[in-house]
Formats: sequence, structure tokens, C-alpha cells
Amino acid sequence: MDLHLKDKVIIVTGGAKGIGEAIVKGAADEGAIPVIVNRPGKEGGALASDLQSKGIDALYLEAELSKVEDCEMVICETVKKYDRIDALVNNAGKNDGIGLEDGNPEAFMASLKNNLLHYYVLAQQALPWLKKAKGNIVNISSKTAITGQGGTSAYTAAKGAQLSLTREWAVELLDYGIRVNAIIPAEVWTPLYESWINTFPDPEAKLKTITDLIPLEKRMTTSEEIANMALFLLSDRASHITGQHLFVDGGYVHVDRVVGTLKK
Ligand code: NAP
Repeated sequence: MDLHLKDKVIIVTGGAKGIGEAIVKGAADEGAIPVIVNRPGKEGGALASDLQSKGIDALYLEAELSKVEDCEMVICETVKKYDRIDALVNNAGKNDGIGLEDGNPEAFMASLKNNLLHYYVLAQQALPWLKKAKGNIVNISSKTAITGQGGTSAYTAAKGAQLSLTREWAVELLDYGIRVNAIIPAEVWTPLYESWINTFPDPEAKLKTITDLIPLEKRMTTSEEIANMALFLLSDRASHITGQHLFVDGGYVHVDRVVGTLKK
């Protein structure tokens, strides 16, 4: 299926690694122009160079998104180069474990800056361009917003707010034809996930206890599976979908996990 994304300028935050990287690569495969936004690090530049060496137009912008001025720079630089923005994928974030018992107000607010504020600032800054292009927004949230996790109040607050904002913006932007949707991943194999699993004494055993609980095929979701949903939502193939929370999680949140174990 042609997603009609050719030459669309798509900003992907956290685009250097994991889910963001898969969205960037998928967008490039569809002929879109990905704008890779990431903290300084070698991966973002290398990804952009790799795409450019294949004749694909791509822009890499280094930004610390917890800073409002960096978010503003991202929109300015994108528009300076392309004079348009067709879509924004708010994806950058990290489960940073600021809990209720052991956290503090400063750490809680800092986490909201890292995980939530830039979703709002980038959407706001991109809005004039999204209006022109009748573009759309995809917010990457997390199953922790629905299920809780324990020990991670700030991250779940940010992820829950991203779901609320998806509905709120879908309503506010109806008149402009701008669609806003969210994807809710659960367990996705990414560099972030790998570094988390490696904090356990026996990472392989820990991973198995997790994958055993994933109803469909007892395996992790791949970044590409999240990207496939994102690309569909970004495309005009999803032209009547807005305000939705799409679970791409192998049934983790909604499917009865006990049934799978009984069949063993
Ligand atoms: P990842 O592998 O760490 O990739 C995220 C990228 O975003 C990294 O390159 C990271 O840079 C960058 N980034 C994070 N915060 C940033 C900031 N403030 N400014 C600029 N760049 C920033 O993570 P991922 O697993 O793909 O996660 C992507 C999104 O999916 C996150 O919102 C996460 O909460 C969500 N999610 C993931 C899972 C999962 O199982 N993986 C499950 C549910 C939800 P650094 O490496 O320098 O930090």
C-alpha cells in the first residue's frame, strides 16, 4: 500500500534510536523527509548520513528537548530548510523511576520536563505549519499510563497526560483538519529497554518472565511494529482517525494472559 508520504516533512523526536529510529527509517522508505531530533550523540548524525548516502533527504538536529529554546530551534531549523512541516511524532522520553516514596518535587518536575513539556511546546510551535499542510501529530505514550508500574510517578504522569493531550488536541484542532493520535507500546526491544534489562542480575531470566506474559507469540514488540502503526497514522490512509489511543503490544494490556498459560 502506498502511504502517500512522499516528500512529507516529518519531525521525529528521539529519532536516533529505538522506536524513533524505526519511524525515521520507515518514513524514509516511504519517500518522506525525516527530521531526526535527538540529544547530542553519534547515532543521530550517523543515521542521517546513512540515509543521505542512499540519496534520501534527511535532516539531523541536535536538541535537548527539556529546554524550550531547543524545541523552538527544531521548528525554526526545519522550516528554514524545508518551508513546511507535515507531521510531528512526539516520541523522546525515558522511564526514569521518580517514585512516590523515594522521589521529590524537584525530580518530579524535571522528569515532566524530560517526558512531557516538549510534547506540548513542539506541537504549539509546529502548529502554524501543521495548519498550512493539514498535517497531523502522533504521540508515543506508554502502557504504564493505563496499568501503572509502581515507583515511577513522574513518567506515568507524563505518559497519562500525553493520552489526555491527544484527545484535547484532536478536539481543539478539528477545524483545521489536523488529526492527533497516540500509540501505546508495552514491551518494545530498544536500546533503552536493553539497558534497563541489563540492570537485573540475570537479564535473560528477567526477559523471559516478561515475554511469557505477552499474549501474542510470547515475544517483545519490535520497534518496526510500532513504526508501522505510526506511519499508517501519519498517512492519509488514516484520514478519518483522530483522538485515538492505539495499543501495539501483542495484547499485553487487554488480552487475558491466563488463557495463554493454561494452554501450555
Ligand atoms: P530509546 O531507545 O532510549 O530512544 C529514545 C531516544 O530519545 C534516545 O536517543 C534518547 O537519547 C532520545 N531522548 C530522550 N529524551 C530526550 C530529550 N529530552 N531530548 C532529546 N533526545 C531525547 O527509547 P525507546 O525505548 O525507543 O522509547 C521511545 C518512546 O517510547 C519513549 O517515549 C518511551 O517512553 C516510549 N515507550 C517505550 C517502551 C519500550 O518498551 N521501549 C514502552 C512504552 C513506551 P539518549 O539515548 O541520549 O537518552
